[in-house]
Amino acid sequence: MTTQETLFSKIIRKEIPADIVYEDDLALAFRDINPQAPVHILVIPKKPIPKLADAESGDQDLMGHLLLTVKRVAEQEGLSNGYRVAINTGNDGGQTVHHLHLHILGGRQMNWPPG
Ligand code: 5GP
Repeated sequence: MTTQETLFSKIIRKEIPADIVYEDDLALAFRDINPQAPVHILVIPKKPIPKLADAESGDQDLMGHLLLTVKRVAEQEGLSNGYRVAINTGNDGGQTVHHLHLHILGGRQMNWPPG
């Protein structure tokens, strides 16, 4: 697994600013700089896993924690009517930042299929 630094590592270390909405020992959640919905938040592990395909069996608890963090943040944001969770993975998945992140999109009706 390659663990190249991304700007998300700098956000974790507070070296560049971000609108952080949740943080604990394992995860960080902050608002996307280019929101695609009224609520658009990224949940990331502090461990720099580049993409979902690089997660290992030892990351099982962490992966569960990330999903429960999504749920917690969505509740915090008042998304009681539902929301979309997306993980773009690799080139075909449209991933642009190579640090695993879960998009929370909400506050409007989502379409299916996504583009
Ligand atoms: P991806 O396309 O890799 O799934 O998503 C990367 C996301 O990171 C994009 O939605 C993009 O707007 C967001 N992003 C890129 N750079 C920054 C940044 O410096 N700060 C924040 N808050 N979001 C960023």
